[in-house]
Amino acid sequence: MVQLKRSYLFPTYTKFPLTLVKGRGTTLWDDQGRAYLDFMAGLAVCNLGHVPERVKARIELQLEQLWHVSNLFHLPIQEELAEKLTTLSCADRVFFCNSGAEANEAAIKCARRYHQRVLGNDRYEIVTFEQSFHGRTIATLTATGQEKVKDGFFPLPQGFAYARLNDIDSVRSCLTAHTAAVMLELVQGESGVRLAEPAFVMALAQLCREEGLLLIVDEVQTGIGRTGSLFAYEQYGIEPDIITLAKGLASGLPIGAMLGQERLSEAFSAGSHASTFGGSPVAMAAGLATLETLLEDGLAERARQTGAYALERLRQVSQDAPAIREVRGLGLLIGIECSEPVGPIIQRLHESGLLVLAGGIDVIRFMPSLYVTCEEIDQAIGILSQVLAERQREAGEERYHWRA
Ligand SMILES: *Cc1c(COP(=O)(O)O)cnc(C)c1O
Repeated sequence: MVQLKRSYLFPTYTKFPLTLVKGRGTTLWDDQGRAYLDFMAGLAVCNLGHVPERVKARIELQLEQLWHVSNLFHLPIQEELAEKLTTLSCADRVFFCNSGAEANEAAIKCARRYHQRVLGNDRYEIVTFEQSFHGRTIATLTATGQEKVKDGFFPLPQGFAYARLNDIDSVRSCLTAHTAAVMLELVQGESGVRLAEPAFVMALAQLCREEGLLLIVDEVQTGIGRTGSLFAYEQYGIEPDIITLAKGLASGLPIGAMLGQERLSEAFSAGSHASTFGGSPVAMAAGLATLETLLEDGLAERARQTGAYALERLRQVSQDAPAIREVRGLGLLIGIECSEPVGPIIQRLHESGLLVLAGGIDVIRFMPSLYVTCEEIDQAIGILSQVLAERQREAGEERYHWRA
């Protein structure tokens, strides 16, 4: 690992003590040449694994043609990716940006402007959920239902209310004459893989219809095959008004997208929203190749199967591992809830060659590339059970010494 005397970066991240220099598929190598099994996938971004060939080839082709001209010109490659996204989803229109927060920011603006300019009412409030995560801009951190992301950033914008996930009455009690939309993650990834229940989601969609509210589904983490379908909403039998995407959409190049149904197209007239880099031809090329590869290789279905396999194996292992409290997930977005903070366990897993990430303080997240094999899942679970057994033995020895 490179030891820096002084960093020139703002200290916004707690860094793992690793410098990764190369990646292929589900394997990463550090600067010492050591290989790691990657179950983080760049925070659910590298759904096709590291440096996927087809995406690389498509990016290289675009790099030869054109990098940037701005959104003041027609860019057929944007139309191509937008057409593909709308064909594959219940949406009809796309706004491209560069990140998940920006996609959610666009969704919030779209919802407000649709009510205020198209329907001509004064609705602006967005109901979100406790423990949700929607981004780090001032509006999206306000939408986020976690106090720690708001600390020190006051005053926050008005117009957000927070309901409890899987509690339709708590949503009802958040509604006012000003409510414009509900914004939901079907699986809350950052706070520890908390799943929305199908009956709750159906009731929520029904409530939105009855009350004239837009249903915004934040698929920044759950989208692009991660949960076993191209979009997680497909498994819930609903059709959101707005879908936001980012992480996995371009295999690691910066991209964000807000997808909306046709009736919302009037919400944004020329000049009402924009992004300089949004829809960059290079990111569009990566997005197109990512979706084509995902479809051709049947990766969503594959994630459904390998995800189910991983869940079953983890549940078996958890029977002999008192540190594991619960295992849950959808497709290859899996959470292993532990009875203690997982920081030290994750440290040990990294040292043992398995890269994983926390969700909240007590959940280990498994979210490998969608190409992950059952052998690699076995390998990862083997490392996890070994580390948990070691720690259990050490805790036992410590208690023994303490008594002696
Ligand atoms: C990561 C994430 C975001 C924020 O995405 P950025 O690209 O970091 O802005 C928003 N919503 C969800 C559900 C996420 O997982």
